[in-house]
Amino acid sequence: MPMPAAAAARAAAALPKVVLHEHLDGALRIGTLLELLAERGLPPPAPGRARGGEAAMAAWLDANAQAGSLERYLEGFALTVAAMATPPALARVAREAAEDALADGAVLAEFRIAPLLFEPFGIAPEAAVEALLAGLAACPALPSGLIVCALRHLPQGETLRAAQLALRFAGRAAPGPCVVGFDLAGAERGHPCADHAEALALVRRAGLPMTLHAGEADAAERVLEAARHGARRIGHGVRLADALADPVRAHVVDDVCALGLHLEICPSSNVHTGAAASIAAHPVTALWRAGISLSVHTDNPLFSRTSMSGEAGALLRESALTVADLLAMTRHAAAASFLGTAAREAALRRIEAAAAAATAAEPNASARAAAQQQGDSERWR
Ligand SMILES: [Zn+2]
Repeated sequence: MPMPAAAAARAAAALPKVVLHEHLDGALRIGTLLELLAERGLPPPAPGRARGGEAAMAAWLDANAQAGSLERYLEGFALTVAAMATPPALARVAREAAEDALADGAVLAEFRIAPLLFEPFGIAPEAAVEALLAGLAACPALPSGLIVCALRHLPQGETLRAAQLALRFAGRAAPGPCVVGFDLAGAERGHPCADHAEALALVRRAGLPMTLHAGEADAAERVLEAARHGARRIGHGVRLADALADPVRAHVVDDVCALGLHLEICPSSNVHTGAAASIAAHPVTALWRAGISLSVHTDNPLFSRTSMSGEAGALLRESALTVADLLAMTRHAAAASFLGTAAREAALRRIEAAAAAATAAEPNASARAAAQQQGDSERWR
């Protein structure tokens, strides 16, 4: 039963959060984007209105998000990548993303980006990763890590370079955040994982965990293909809803459950890119009820004008998911994190403490939460 807006917002804000799927070049604060553009002498993209103002930039971002077009949605990345293409700016964006997640209730966070994007601006990929990790380290209250993305529409040679870069930083024994995973992002349709098999095999053999975007713009079966290439988590995977609705393809969902894959679901992003019609019509509820391990994420909080609380609030307001469902998803997210065992267990303890507080405040939810918790602990055994 959907919640009234004010109650949904309150409940969402109080939930603990585990951030698994957030692109740093889609996570800038509006004020930071404007400052960085000005520093680099780049014009803001909102013509005809108080140029340079946060309201004009917000209106431009809103219009892009509501266009329902992947192309319009992706326009924003050209802007942010140009704006943040200096090591100090990369560090600032990473630090602010971590601070914003912490302020929103995050107990653990993984952020991602494609460091090779900054090479045309004269930044060596190693320098980009160093700056990003320094930025995350500047928010020590939030255990965090970096996922290195490669872009699937580029040649495999570029993916190999990104993989080698990720592996150089993954084994670092230094304290503080390090590279914890590898991802293939970019346009999915027409660019299957198989095109990057050699690079993915390198990452897999080295033991660096992988989450691959799959089943967002292409078919449900791409999720299983990503798993065959070594993915333990899947970015999006929402097209699994098509398999769920088709008896001939339902085995795909069974296989996803049997493999223990975890889906990183980004509801607002899916609406904004046209992968889902609305939050109310988003398949996250059906996929969750089908027994798939999943959690809810922002993808690009700047472009989708959202936050972890914003996504949770929208689902509480517009779907049948409950606070107990969202807490259970967050437990799954913590268990699926690529951070080390100690960080995962500490996050789970903080989630349990928050769950106890939430159920004490909402007595009707305690029975549901207990039942869900029971189901979860059985699933984890
Ligand atoms: Zn993504």
